[in-house]
Amino acid sequence: MADVIKLLPDHVANQIAAGEVVQRPASVVKELLENAIDAGADAIKLIVKDGGKTLIQVVDNGDGMSETDARLAFERHATSKINKAEDLFNLNTKGFRGEALASIAAIAHVDLQTKKDDAEVGTAIKIAGSSIKAQEVVVTPKGTSLAVKNLFFNIPARRNFLKSDQVELRHITDEFHRVALVHPNISFQFYNNGAEYFNLPIESHRQRIVHVFGNKMNERLVPVSEDTDVVKIHGFICKPEFARKSRGEQFFFANNRYIKSPYLNHAVTAAFEGLLKSDTHPGYFLFLEVNPATIDINIHPTKTEVKFDDEHTLYAILRSAIKHSLGQFNVAPVLDFES
Ligand code: ADP
Ligand code: MG
Repeated sequence: MADVIKLLPDHVANQIAAGEVVQRPASVVKELLENAIDAGADAIKLIVKDGGKTLIQVVDNGDGMSETDARLAFERHATSKINKAEDLFNLNTKGFRGEALASIAAIAHVDLQTKKDDAEVGTAIKIAGSSIKAQEVVVTPKGTSLAVKNLFFNIPARRNFLKSDQVELRHITDEFHRVALVHPNISFQFYNNGAEYFNLPIESHRQRIVHVFGNKMNERLVPVSEDTDVVKIHGFICKPEFARKSRGEQFFFANNRYIKSPYLNHAVTAAFEGLLKSDTHPGYFLFLEVNPATIDINIHPTKTEVKFDDEHTLYAILRSAIKHSLGQFNVAPVLDFES
């Protein structure tokens, strides 16, 4: 019998991997913003057209790439962020899988312009369907601009599966919020279809929350702060009277990364016990810092699900920190007369 196993060509492997990394335009936004942050940028511009279907561009003033790195960046498993598996437990970058750019370039038209600080000129590269179409020397400022056009141009089924521009923009905005909230030390501009949508200066955490969600937040926020060997917590909860039916304003960040955690959410809700009207959810913006060796972020490609070594202790500390804040700021219980 003839042998039947063969290695998939790179562009096919990339396209398959892209299915995991890139679900929709918002996934591209997340990856590009994270790369800009990892490059040390303190000013980032996001430009989106037609819900990200036509264009997603991120321009940063970070470190930029050399000509060779600019080409290598699009290879699978090409990363400057880790060298060995152990590095995963001492991470201070958002990326490490070296998959995002390879995946994006497999399913979109990508225009890259990049320049390192000490280089005289920069590099421009055009890529589509994993292959480099053009490369030239350009005059460009320090940093990187990456434009992703016509997402899923070569996978019609995926392109047709995208929702309306409005819905895709909402997902992009959610991703933008998550990144902007945890990096108030970076300025962000966000343009949608040519119009300014957000313009966030460098500011404090509190100012950033107010800037993103509006002045109404000013009276709502109660600070939370706790410092233990297991975790450092800071951030804000919203006063119980502002709890809402929807879960819109609930944010956990662990080591500067937005995470989802039903378990920790339960800890917060438990701390609010007796203070909430039925069926309402408290708002919160909580920034946790743990030893990187005690958190596993490599459970899922999008890295929003994480695993903490000592979840139970974390739960208890979080709950008591929030109870303490609620008490200290003398947040009176709201009696629910309807029930
Ligand atoms: P990862 O972020 O996991 O390393 P990516 O595919 O997102 O993988 O990026 C590959 C590499 O390209 C990065 O490790 C980095 O060296 C380089 N890179 C990507 N985006 C930028 C950027 N905006 N500025 C500088 N370097 C970048
Ligand atoms: Mg990355």
